[in-house]
Amino acid sequence: MKKKRPINILFIASEAAPLIKVGGLGDVAGSLPKALKNLLPNQLSGNELDIRLVIPFHSMINQKLENIQLVSSFLVKHSHGNIPARVFLTSVEGVPVYLIEGGSILSDQNVYSSNPEYDAKKYIFFSIAALEMVKNINWHVDIIHANDWHTAITCYDLKLRKVTDPFFRNTKSVLSMHNMPYMGAGSERILNEFGLPNCPCTDLPEWARSIPLPIGMYAADFLLTVSPNYANEILTPDYGCGLQDFLNKRKDSLSGILNGLDESKWDPKIDNTLHFNYDSTQLDVRLKNKLALQTEFGLEKDDTIPLFIMVTRMDQQKGVDLAISALRMIADSSWQAILLGTGDPVIESACRSLEVEMPSKVRSVIRFDLNLSKRMYAGGDIILIPSRYEPCGLTQMIAMRYGCVPLARSTGGLKDTIIDEDNSNQNNGFLFSEPIPEIMAQTLIRAISDYSNRQKWQIIQSNGLHTDFSWEKSAIEYANIYIDLIEGER
Ligand code: ADP
Repeated sequence: MKKKRPINILFIASEAAPLIKVGGLGDVAGSLPKALKNLLPNQLSGNELDIRLVIPFHSMINQKLENIQLVSSFLVKHSHGNIPARVFLTSVEGVPVYLIEGGSILSDQNVYSSNPEYDAKKYIFFSIAALEMVKNINWHVDIIHANDWHTAITCYDLKLRKVTDPFFRNTKSVLSMHNMPYMGAGSERILNEFGLPNCPCTDLPEWARSIPLPIGMYAADFLLTVSPNYANEILTPDYGCGLQDFLNKRKDSLSGILNGLDESKWDPKIDNTLHFNYDSTQLDVRLKNKLALQTEFGLEKDDTIPLFIMVTRMDQQKGVDLAISALRMIADSSWQAILLGTGDPVIESACRSLEVEMPSKVRSVIRFDLNLSKRMYAGGDIILIPSRYEPCGLTQMIAMRYGCVPLARSTGGLKDTIIDEDNSNQNNGFLFSEPIPEIMAQTLIRAISDYSNRQKWQIIQSNGLHTDFSWEKSAIEYANIYIDLIEGER
């Protein structure tokens, strides 16, 4: 019997850890292809996957990567003169990775800029070049999996090319939306320069027909969000960013799969940045990490005072302002808080003001600091995540893995991962529904009260520590979608 050929999948993203990581997308693009590659045929209905990743060859990616080879070069059509592209191949943890160089990719020092046209030029070039590369190396791709607006144009270009180019006739596309409000607005002129027409889809609102994410959503065969709950939320006006009517028409081709956590990278048992390592059977050791944290920040050393933490981008999305107001409302209770983050200067300064106002309780650390974040996950009691929207959220999963209990707004992936039910012994955190300081303050008081009951608290911590956030579970769900698409069942 002739052996089935593997299913060929190209995962395309603007960033992927460990080569280059700016945000959560970098974590996903670094972990998911690896998890898919590690699935066994018996987890894939007898299929095998040949998964490869393609990212821009950003200038920060070490040019001296080992085992790097030039595999392809070609021109990308542009109205001001065709743009040369070169593709290099390397391998990261067993996953083949293509790096595309050309256009403004190399000259730019940042992964993302604040100038929409500048990013449009870079990422539309990259999206088109990725498809051109597949043909140039003669690799018959079954599935192209694009991510966010930066690579959504690959889905659109694929749909256009399928009409005339038999090479792509059987290629299907999947588009994951990690952060819907960022759509790539301001790209219209650049799309025209690369010869891409406005999208003809009348189901899309007119304003959306020349914006990369919506037109990628129109062109993709299947749409994904990074949590099941967020997939439902974007069908509503509150979360749909004006595209809810269009998405409701496409809802049979929309699903949500929870992001996993790279459990080998987030493990308090072997994390060498911690003062004291521990596992789920040694929750008392966490208290030593808490005392170390209190010492580091000059807070009263007392393990009975609940220690709140925040580790976050300081962005309107994350609801830091809600947390600040709620903390003010419970100023008379006994608690401490360490707030770590950078971003919007207004939010940063609100955090600094809270510290000035409550010097015995609050510390604000305005920077990005991975090692400190880990010490906080390992020593903090409760992580505050009052997000206004949250496509998936990693911090709650990391925190639970470190025995730090999440207190979060019940939205998006937070709702999918945190259990807070009346009289349940499955609870692993605290949820509140309305983004209103009073409601958050009530939930903080409830958490403080539970914290004082050591036995109850250890059950909540232990439930979090035992929640399965592995990538393997999610990778199987992705693979099933790919297989269904190829077999014409979706
Ligand atoms: P988002 O991707 O929307 O920013 P996530 O919760 O998905 O939010 O992921 C945030 C990631 O960034 C987590 O790994 C978190 O620990 C990390 N992080 C955020 N801010 C900081 C900071 N100031 N210092 C260190 N790590 C941070």
